Amino acid sequence: MNCGLPGLALAFGLATAAHAVQDTARFDFTDQQEAHAEALAETALDSDLAWDILESLTTEVGPRLGGSPQEAVAREWAVRMLEANGFSNVRIEPFDMPYWERGPLHVELTAPFPQRLYATDLGGSASGPEGGIDAGIAFFDSFDDLQQSPGGNSLDGMVVYIDDRMVAAQTGAGYGPANDKRRFGWLEAQARGATALLIRSVGTDSHRMPHTGTISTPNATSELSQAARDYLDAEYPDYLENPARSRIPAIALSGPDADQVERIHEMGEAMRVRIEANSGWQETAQSGNVVGEIPGTDLADEIILIGAHLDSWDEGTGAVDDGAGVAIVTAAARLIADAGDAPRRTIRVVLFGAEEVGLLGAFAYARENAGEIGNIVLASESDFGAGPVWRFSSGVSDEATPVFDAIGRNITELGIIRGDRNARGGGPDIIPLAMAGVPVFRLEQVGTDYFDLHHTPDDTLDKVDPDALAQNVAAWAATVYLAAQADTDFRTQDE
Ligand SMILES: [Zn+2]
Repeated sequence: MNCGLPGLALAFGLATAAHAVQDTARFDFTDQQEAHAEALAETALDSDLAWDILESLTTEVGPRLGGSPQEAVAREWAVRMLEANGFSNVRIEPFDMPYWERGPLHVELTAPFPQRLYATDLGGSASGPEGGIDAGIAFFDSFDDLQQSPGGNSLDGMVVYIDDRMVAAQTGAGYGPANDKRRFGWLEAQARGATALLIRSVGTDSHRMPHTGTISTPNATSELSQAARDYLDAEYPDYLENPARSRIPAIALSGPDADQVERIHEMGEAMRVRIEANSGWQETAQSGNVVGEIPGTDLADEIILIGAHLDSWDEGTGAVDDGAGVAIVTAAARLIADAGDAPRRTIRVVLFGAEEVGLLGAFAYARENAGEIGNIVLASESDFGAGPVWRFSSGVSDEATPVFDAIGRNITELGIIRGDRNARGGGPDIIPLAMAGVPVFRLEQVGTDYFDLHHTPDDTLDKVDPDALAQNVAAWAATVYLAAQADTDFRTQDE
């Protein structure tokens, strides 16, 4: 994983320089600040701290689904871990949430070639009827094909299957389009009278590891077919106040099992499937965000928020998603505190709860801390696995953009190129803060194999490369330290 990085930086070096020429104002950190950032990065590259945090979380807590008892164990672990690493003001900020729990699942092809299929319930899936489902499969190549199909009860009693293979890419760009079927497939199927939804896993691996993830609840602007929209209005008239939940099982088949279904379909054979599904919604549960700080000095009132999410899906141990992020941002902040020359701004680590099940911790954080959002001058999250950082983007005021160009120059030796200077996103849990005007940056990771592991039982510690993890910590430590020292206001001033 950690190969060819200097070459990458070299290849893109010219483009970066050409971009900087257009700047009227150039910003430079002092020699002392640059030397301090470089020393921090070197220390991080030799440090096992992030690995030790990640090993502890994935071993001693393991899976930690949002709202589950295991997620509460993770919060207690996080408090102990942050205190042991010398953080100040360590606290849990609790919130209530709807809680969905996985039950046993059995999926079996009964005709024409009987065999078991490896499958997993999607988050928010309903249980099936008593005695299970025994039905014919209606095969669709894509979500779009299902949306184009006739409404009414055109698929009455059938099980809908949507194929639609995800494309692997360094930036993970294939994920969004492949996810449409996971998000609203249930509603399009249910609107046509189907008894269950099966989809090809939204993932890029070729193992028998089905990929879970949450289904979506529609709002007024969701891109639904007219048939689904009419059905929604009729069957869930108050869906804007009470989120519409699936009434049918929504299930992902592993890649190789989806291949099997696709092959049999191409043979022109009609398929039947048997499904016993037992997942569903439980009583309201508690989750929480865990917070700790490295206090600043003369600019202590200004907060740089760096985050990751503490919850994971329930089938792996959440090593790449997002134990790695927890370890990276925590280790970076701790190393900054240990290095002397205390940061001028306060560095706040937020380990968000219940991200996977709908960014619930992120929205709770923004709601509960609304009065303080003006003091958060910069925010970012590490939530794209443990691959090395290859690109640095920022979304800050015009005045502050040269500061981030300067940070970019200081992390080039880690193999990182300067990317978007008008970035809007700082990571999933930063969305509500960014919407409220908080400036953001992003240390983008190589994600080519991220979706081989993400949301599957295969998301485990052995998949993490310690050297790539350490490179992440080095990039975060240098970036956050430099951002904490610059005088410039990162916020865009209101006119
Ligand atoms: Zn994640």
